[in-house]
Amino acid sequence: MITVRNLQKQFDDHLVLRDISLEVPKGEVVAILGPSGSGKTTLLRCLNVLEMPNGGSVTIGGETVEFGGKVTKQDIAKLRSQTGMVFQQHNLFPHFTALENVMEGLVTVKRVPRLKARATAEMFLTKVGLGDKMNLYPFQLSGGQQQRVGIARALAMEPQVMLFDEPTSALDPELVQEVLKVMKELAAEGMTMVVVTHEMRFARSIANRVIFMEGGYIVEEGQPEQVFQSPREERTKQFLQLFE
Ligand code: ADP
Repeated sequence: MITVRNLQKQFDDHLVLRDISLEVPKGEVVAILGPSGSGKTTLLRCLNVLEMPNGGSVTIGGETVEFGGKVTKQDIAKLRSQTGMVFQQHNLFPHFTALENVMEGLVTVKRVPRLKARATAEMFLTKVGLGDKMNLYPFQLSGGQQQRVGIARALAMEPQVMLFDEPTSALDPELVQEVLKVMKELAAEGMTMVVVTHEMRFARSIANRVIFMEGGYIVEEGQPEQVFQSPREERTKQFLQLFE
């Protein structure tokens, strides 16, 4: 479902992604772990070209974009339409209700008629457990509920893969579980997911594969059991010890 080849990203003279290659089969949940500044968010943002990579290629759901040369807006749009993204902060429109927030992309990007968009938005909000909160504005919702609106908004566009960038890190501890629960359900339904997270329990119990990054490289990857119980690399071991 996702193939990344030799991806590179540089900010000024700082090489943030050095040579990233990875494959994510359909239905797999990949957790990306690593210290702050290791390039996790940049990698995720390069997958849907929120950041423009300097080299390498990304293929998602059959759409390939090669970076380094000319990349057209159409190339970017095709890749982006394959992905749904959930950010650390929800980025909801404050003057739109939950329902209107989920409808927005359907109406403006996908040109879905309003009535149909409304029905779709209602379905996805119900799916994330917000069937009774659809007409509330973001400020009337808890952080966890806001994140779930963000998930519904991404899902409503029917992406092939979901990208999560530390979706629970800005939440109060008591609100983390309700968001993880929705993500767990999605994983169980077979959604292909790439999740940047510091939630080790989530990575351990939900992910099919764990990737440990440092300094712009993938240092180690493997099944959660292997990486958590017997990491091959000393750096992985040291990082994981911080969470014990
Ligand atoms: P992580 O998600 O692992 O914490 P990031 O991908 O956010 O790491 O950042 C990796 C490195 O890239 C950091 O050194 C960060 O300062 C730098 N960086 C990220 N975004 C930008 C940007 N827009 N401009 C310049 N440097 C950036």
